[in-house]
Parts: sequence; structure tokens; C-alpha cells
Amino acid sequence: MKKLVLLSTCLLLLGGCLQQEEAVTDQLVGPLDTVSAVTLYGSDSRRIIDEVFAAVSDIDMRMSAISQDSELARISAGAGGPVAVSSDVFALVEEALAISAETNGAFDPTIRPVATLWDLGSGNERIPSDNEIAEAMSKIGYARVTLDKTTRGVSLDSLGMALDLGGIAKGYACDTAVAILKKNGARRGIIDLGGNIYAYGTKLGGKPWVVGVRTPIPGENGYFCTLNVSDKAVVTSGAYERFFEKDGRRYHHIFDPSTGRPADNGLLSVTIVASSATVADALSTACFVMGAERGRAFLAERRDAEGIFVTEGMDVLLSPGLLGQVEIADGRFRLAGEK
Ligand code: ADP
Ligand code: MG
Repeated sequence: MKKLVLLSTCLLLLGGCLQQEEAVTDQLVGPLDTVSAVTLYGSDSRRIIDEVFAAVSDIDMRMSAISQDSELARISAGAGGPVAVSSDVFALVEEALAISAETNGAFDPTIRPVATLWDLGSGNERIPSDNEIAEAMSKIGYARVTLDKTTRGVSLDSLGMALDLGGIAKGYACDTAVAILKKNGARRGIIDLGGNIYAYGTKLGGKPWVVGVRTPIPGENGYFCTLNVSDKAVVTSGAYERFFEKDGRRYHHIFDPSTGRPADNGLLSVTIVASSATVADALSTACFVMGAERGRAFLAERRDAEGIFVTEGMDVLLSPGLLGQVEIADGRFRLAGEK
């Protein structure tokens, strides 16, 4: 069993409500291999949070790449023939594959054989040989997944292939939580599923929430910049939480599907701001793989997502739509010039 890694939240919520309004906060530890925290204001919060946590646990059970009896594991075990899955698993695999195509394979939910090979978080990490990497690479490729809408069938084209929704499932769970808040008439709150933040509604009085983006340096828990958001997801992918070090190099858990190795583009983190947490999650992983230059060019072409890229040199680069909206809060980081 993969060791449970406890993450502190990647983003911090700042400047809460000034006026008094009762808040309920709770955490769920474990599902989605992370810590899920929800804060809600107003009546009925306790029951709504319970409903959110039940949904997060259910998504974890069905979409986990690790658990042997998840729907995802059934797809992987059935490589070669179609496996019928529930409608939301089907829809999420479909969305993941669409984003794979849009990102030219920087996001790839068939990355599992590569991720298993590196086995980050196992405690026995080592650098695989070139042959092992080539072997794992022969088992990935998003274009090798076939979907059949009428039967909700998912097929992988050869044995040894496996799906991994780890780069998108927390975002999906976050959107599911938002839907539960809306359905129950919740007015304001913050959802944080392992760094997949959704700022729901506004602060009391109508002002946007102020979200701090986690300093992307191992062992540090502060924030390096802030931005104001309302009804938006803010999702970060980075090289500072799940990694091991060998001979002075850091090997982390976001893999470049074109090399089979941890993405190595000189980035510390990428944060995506979008209305959809699912899109934000997948694109934060994809943009981390693409690097700052390609990632920003990619985002400049889209209307549904903006991004904050932090380089190893502590430069902070923004996609065009965020210019003027991000405030640096830590003098070690510099906002780079306009794109
Ligand atoms: P986190 O899950 O730590 O918030 P990400 O959203 O970036 O970070 O997702 C990383 C996870 O996604 C990895 O643990 C792995 O399961 C999976 N993954 C790694 N590389 C890729 C990739 N290039 N495309 C899609 N999924 C990936
Ligand atoms: Mg992601």
C-alpha cells in the first residue's frame, strides 16, 4: 500500500470575514491521498460539510489508481477489452483525454506505469534505469484509450497500461463539492482539497476572498503572493511536496510523458485560476510539464484559465489575464515583466 502523505494546504486563506458570521470548519484526512478542508458560513453548514466529505470519499473509492477494487483499477486490469464504468468516471476520463489532446500530451492520464516505476512516496525511491523507463514509456499514450459512449466502455489498447486520474480527480472532487454547496443553498465558504482551492461566493459584505498562494519551497508554509477571487478555483501543482532527493537533484511526482522522467523545466510551481476546478487541476499539471514559456503561450490562447508560474530563480510570471491582479507578499519573489 502506498504510504499516506499528509499535505498541508497549498494555499492559505487570508482576511476572513470582518463581521460576525458563524463558521464551521472541518477536515477529512486520507481520501484522495490528501487532506480535504471545508469552511462554510451560515446555517446547516455541518450537514453540508458531511455531504461533501461523503462525496469526496466516494470519488476516492471509485477513481483511485491505487486501490485494487476501484473502477479505475478495473479498467486497468481489463486492458485490451472495454470495461463499463459509471457515468461520472466515464465523463472524467473523457475530459482528461480531451485535455490531453489540447495540451499535446503534456497532461496524460495513462502516465500510471511511469508513476508506478518511480513510486514516489514509497520510502524506497530510486532512479530507474533507462531501460526501465523505456519499458514504462511503451505502456503510456492517451491516444491508446478508446471510449464507447453508448456502453460507457473504456478500453486500453494493451496489457500493462493503466489509468491515473491523480492529476485531475481532486479538481473534479472540488467541483462536486461546489455543486453540493449550490444545491444546499450555501452562500459562502472555502473548499480546499489538498491545495485544490475553491473560493465559493464572497466574503460577508460582498468583497472577494483573498487567497494566498503557497511558497513553493519545501518545508515552508507561508505564501508568496495573494490574489482576490470569487467563485473561482485556484489550483497549484509543484515540485515541493512530493519528491525525493538524490545527489543534490530533486525528483518529484509530475512526470513529463515525453521523457518518462519528472518534468524538469526550471519551475517550482504553477497555479491555475479557473471557474472549473477540474480544468484548473489538469492544467496546473500540464503547464508544469510544459514550462513557463509554452505554458503561458498555451494559456494566452484560452479564455477559461489563467496561470501563475514560479521559476527556480524566484521569478513570478503571469498569464495575460492576471496582469495587475497578483500581489507579491514575499520579497524573495519578483513579478516579472509583462508578456
Ligand atoms: P497533486 O496531486 O500533488 O496536487 P498534480 O495535480 O499536479 O499534483 O497531480 C500529480 C499527480 O498526477 C501525480 O501524483 C500522478 O498521479 C499524476 N501525474 C503525474 N504526471 C502527470 C501527467 N503528466 N499527466 C497527468 N497526470 C500526471
Ligand atoms: Mg493537477
